[in-house]
Amino acid sequence: MPLDQNRTESGVEDLNDVQVFHSACPHDCPSTCALEVERLNPQTIGRVRGASANTYTSGVICAKVARYAERVHHPDRLTKPLRRVGAKGLGREAFEEISWDEALDIVAGKLKSAADLHGPETVWPYYYAGTMGLVQRDGINRLRHAMGYSRQHSTFCNTLADAGWLAGAGSKTGVDAREMVESDLIVIWGCNPVSTQVNVMTHATRARKTRNAKIVIIDPYETESAKQADIHLMPNPGTDGALACAVMHVLFRDGYADRAYLEKFTSGYVELEAHLKFRTPDWAEAITGIPADEIEAFAAFYGKTQRSYLRLGFGFTRSRNGAVQMFSASCLPAVTGAWQYPGGGALYSNGGIYGIDQTLIKGEDVMDTSTRLLDQSRIGPILTGDLRDLGDGPPVSALFIQNTNPMNVAPDLGKVREGFAREDLFVCVHEQFLTETAEMADIVLPATTFLEHDDMYVAGGHTHLQVTRAVIDPVGESRSNHWVLAELAKRLNTDHPGFAMSEWELMDDALQRSGYPDVQTCWEGHWEDRALSFEEAHFLEGFGHDDGKFHFMPDWSQIGGNHAGMPALPDHYDAIDARDDEHPFRLVTAPSRNYLNTSFTETATSQSREGRPEAQLHPDVCGELQLEAGDLVRIGNVQGSVVVHARPTPGLRRNTVIVESVWPNKAFVEGMGINVLISAEAGRPNGGAVFHDTAVWLRSA
Ligand code: SF4
Repeated sequence: MPLDQNRTESGVEDLNDVQVFHSACPHDCPSTCALEVERLNPQTIGRVRGASANTYTSGVICAKVARYAERVHHPDRLTKPLRRVGAKGLGREAFEEISWDEALDIVAGKLKSAADLHGPETVWPYYYAGTMGLVQRDGINRLRHAMGYSRQHSTFCNTLADAGWLAGAGSKTGVDAREMVESDLIVIWGCNPVSTQVNVMTHATRARKTRNAKIVIIDPYETESAKQADIHLMPNPGTDGALACAVMHVLFRDGYADRAYLEKFTSGYVELEAHLKFRTPDWAEAITGIPADEIEAFAAFYGKTQRSYLRLGFGFTRSRNGAVQMFSASCLPAVTGAWQYPGGGALYSNGGIYGIDQTLIKGEDVMDTSTRLLDQSRIGPILTGDLRDLGDGPPVSALFIQNTNPMNVAPDLGKVREGFAREDLFVCVHEQFLTETAEMADIVLPATTFLEHDDMYVAGGHTHLQVTRAVIDPVGESRSNHWVLAELAKRLNTDHPGFAMSEWELMDDALQRSGYPDVQTCWEGHWEDRALSFEEAHFLEGFGHDDGKFHFMPDWSQIGGNHAGMPALPDHYDAIDARDDEHPFRLVTAPSRNYLNTSFTETATSQSREGRPEAQLHPDVCGELQLEAGDLVRIGNVQGSVVVHARPTPGLRRNTVIVESVWPNKAFVEGMGINVLISAEAGRPNGGAVFHDTAVWLRSA
């Protein structure tokens, strides 16, 4: 599949014989940066830069993507289909190379025989956000629906955050991130953009320079972002709802609530004010650990500042009470009426603005909603036969996996491992590297990176749709997700029209169905800005609910079935894995700077910058456990234990433990990764992984 060397490349410049191509970052990050990629020749890229003409990316990207050549040309890239002939988990030596035809025939044959034996729901196509491209990520659903395979409830990332935001605001939109430059106070809540979404800092620091805006970080430890902030509020993990309530208590008590705005744009504010009466800063101090005077000072600052911008992240939502936490924080600008002002309001995600009709990409025209829906975060219990998931349906006996690495990233890792070890489970993994999930597969297929295939991207952090083309030829015999799906479809005798279309044709279909220019026009323009008007983005024409109001008393039953016991108003929802005498610490597995989930864990530069898995512990705790820097500490709970090196860290509370992630299991002293401690219990009301909601014990190891 060589590139068409004669095609016209829009926007290509010649700089000393190096061609520069437009692209977009495909990784699981809200920034979806607009990129400029140097092509040295049809097989080789050079440097990768942020597109300076893009008003969100603004020429700035993270270091890990800037050095993408290290990843795309890594000697460990998979280049040929592989069949496992040795034991599971042994690594490359357990595999032999086979041809594409042979590999695809085996996979199709195994999926077919599994379905013949147990029915089609025994096959579970499994994917996530290894690429965020709409064709290469979501196309697996077309095969799923065309074949009647089990459906997937995708819950690794934003399910809890979505639930919380939608409960109040009613639509997944908000104030454009570029508007931060007009803000006087920027509150970055539950995310660490220096490490995970660098562009937020670009726009926040612009406001600091031009308007002397203040930056507040709310995070349970002193992240790199917190070090750059004017104020850092450090709540105990899982207590942000209490903080939000105490702030709102002050807003009402001290006259910062905009009653005209509340009357016009919200419902339930009378009940809210009464409910907050006893949720004082002293009450919140006991829950959050944040001194009451810090809460008072922050609340007064927020209340006095009309142009106050909340940038709400995912971190504080990855908890059993995560939806309530997001909802509670999202209430603040509805109390002060900050939404009315330039640079005021909030953004969780603008993912709701695009309206792309993916019918053919996802095969939604042939989806049967009575087919069972399995929760991806519960893959461990599911593969080990948990009847709470399987009911009276068949076991999962065949997995076809693209774009994710559940042997590292899924909760309840012990069960995930046990499940993948089943000899009666057929597994095919289509991947760029021999991940620990691929090592457990029967067949491994080599996958292209975003620089080797065509796709299109939307973003949560900004408002641009981007269409991209391959920049270089596929590495080795790697093939795109779409190509593999089409080849399997042929062998499985399913004739959905999407399989006969190219990526380009699928994009064109989706764009034109959705009222966009055609795919060629979108590509030539590099990005299509779908920014909302000021009035829409600030909900001045009404919030997303039918009544146009922000709801302080949400109807959780509209969002998910598991809503019993959820609070009627913003609150500290005490549903977390709370500390007790046996588990006196709370563990947060925050994202590291040089890895992105498990992507980049294979590159030497990221590895050397991250060093090794470490537990950040308060120095007093290290003293009590007689731990010096670098000593081994065992972290455990009822699910198991993990050994890591201790790092005394003053910038966190005594009862908080931070292990930045996601490391491969093999990077840990005992070969078992941190997710062995993470519960597969679903957050409320609609599921969602609870990665940062874990009570643990510590022992010197
Ligand atoms: S900041 Fe995010 S979107 Fe931008 S290049 Fe890095 S990983 Fe990609």
